[in-house]
Amino acid sequence: MPIESEQERITVAIVGAGIAGLSLAVALNALDHDHKIAIDIYESTPELSEIGAGINIWPRTWCICEKVGLGESLAPLFDHPPNLEPRIIYEIRKADHADGFRVMDISKNGGGLRIHRADFQQCLIDNLPLPRNPNVKINSTCTLNLSHRLIDYTYRPSSAGHEKRPVTLQFADRPSRSCDILVGADGIKSTIRQLFLNRLANGLDYQRFLQPRWAATVAYRALIDKEALRTLSPNHRILDHPGIMYVGRHKHAVAYSISGGKYINLVATTHDRSKEGTIWKGPWSSEVPKEELIEQFRGWDPEFQQLIQCVERPTRWALHDMHPLDTFAEERVLLMGDAAHVMLPFQGAGAGCGIEDAYILANLLTNRLVPSSPTPQQFSKVLDIYNRIRVPAAGAKVKATVTQGELYTLAIPELEGYEEGDDIPKDKLLDVFRAAADNWSWTSSDPEEDRRVAIDLLQGSLGMRSPQIYN
Ligand SMILES: Cc1cc2nc3c(=O)[nH]c(=O)nc-3n(C[C@H](O)[C@H](O)[C@H](O)COP(=O)(O)OP(=O)(O)OC[C@H]3O[C@@H](n4cnc5c(N)ncnc54)[C@H](O)[C@@H]3O)c2cc1C
Repeated sequence: MPIESEQERITVAIVGAGIAGLSLAVALNALDHDHKIAIDIYESTPELSEIGAGINIWPRTWCICEKVGLGESLAPLFDHPPNLEPRIIYEIRKADHADGFRVMDISKNGGGLRIHRADFQQCLIDNLPLPRNPNVKINSTCTLNLSHRLIDYTYRPSSAGHEKRPVTLQFADRPSRSCDILVGADGIKSTIRQLFLNRLANGLDYQRFLQPRWAATVAYRALIDKEALRTLSPNHRILDHPGIMYVGRHKHAVAYSISGGKYINLVATTHDRSKEGTIWKGPWSSEVPKEELIEQFRGWDPEFQQLIQCVERPTRWALHDMHPLDTFAEERVLLMGDAAHVMLPFQGAGAGCGIEDAYILANLLTNRLVPSSPTPQQFSKVLDIYNRIRVPAAGAKVKATVTQGELYTLAIPELEGYEEGDDIPKDKLLDVFRAAADNWSWTSSDPEEDRRVAIDLLQGSLGMRSPQIYN
């Protein structure tokens, strides 16, 4: 039975309209068959924009995208159909010397679905339940509030039990608002993470989680115009290749096509061991002269040099991650996306992990066992299940990305003593990249298993077992 009164909806405030926050809004609306959710999105910037770069979506994440109704609009934007045929993700090429060579191909079922970030974000925006999207079925009410920078929140539990909107949100230069559940999807420098962790009973134990740590690594990102590359180097292999990873000691780069073959997305990283444990000084991302990128990879494989010659305006990103947190949620506040689990980009998994957070949370909140006016205890149980599913899953990814980065940059104990540009026996390289391929074994796994466990836990916690309560 649909719920008519706004007062009876569960008000979910999503702070941050990045991939994680927008995915949550889309997933809540798609699964809210009982019309019991009211979504308010608050975003600090005056408009929604994404950086000019590509993003890799794995088949596991694609599965979720389909379940929440994004399939039709997303599928045409990928460079190959989203099915589970085995495909090459990357050719691995030892490239830190003039005579680079192919080590092996890494293939996975379904390959990697590559897309321009702005296209992905637009697809999410177009699927929000807003009046400006007439083709979207509106189950949840939704508001999108730009120029709303959250600076603080307060949670006042009442002893009366069924309190409505006990969380008050404070914004810079805007009136305060209230909600039943506050979702911190405010990214790597999350304000809500800091407030939330400091307010935990054992908040002092979480001081090292307040700020991400610099991984002594920087990433240069750029979109290369394919036609410019074709003019300079008509037979360049990346023009017709699903993806190449150029590797060397402490450095590596990935290149793959996006936007129907218009651009090549390039991410090139360098790791400086002498800076480990230090703090990055300066802006975390900035445009840098192309010469800086070229200088970093001087002497590398000519094929790679030709590629970076076509870069126009690279941006340099100081890569940060965070110790895995042991809680993302308590009472009425929860964290998701990079706010909960900043990770290094070496598994191409950060955004996908935020989308998984969104999927699990949306399935829990929209389940019929959760009434439209849950008690504080019912909210606590839902958030506890979110923690039980998402904390270990995201923590494992954070750790896996560190291992993957060490493998890609040949920075493992077995290769100690080799310097950039040295010959390394091929059998040793094969061992490294077979391990990297194994580390990616999850990419086509089924996200429904986690959802089923979450719903089982909800049944055990809030109600009786009945097949009808599976959304
Ligand atoms: C080089 C690189 C390559 C990557 N490649 C991949 C990949 O291939 N695949 C993949 O899955 N992931 C990848 N990632 C990771 C991915 O980009 C992130 O995990 C993802 O974009 C994070 O999304 P988010 O919504 O959590 O945070 P964000 O995108 O940072 O969004 C947070 C939003 O919150 C807003 N905000 C911040 N503070 C406030 C406030 N106080 N009040 C209101 N709003 C606020 C911000 O303006 C922003 O819009 C990569 C990352 C890097 C650095």
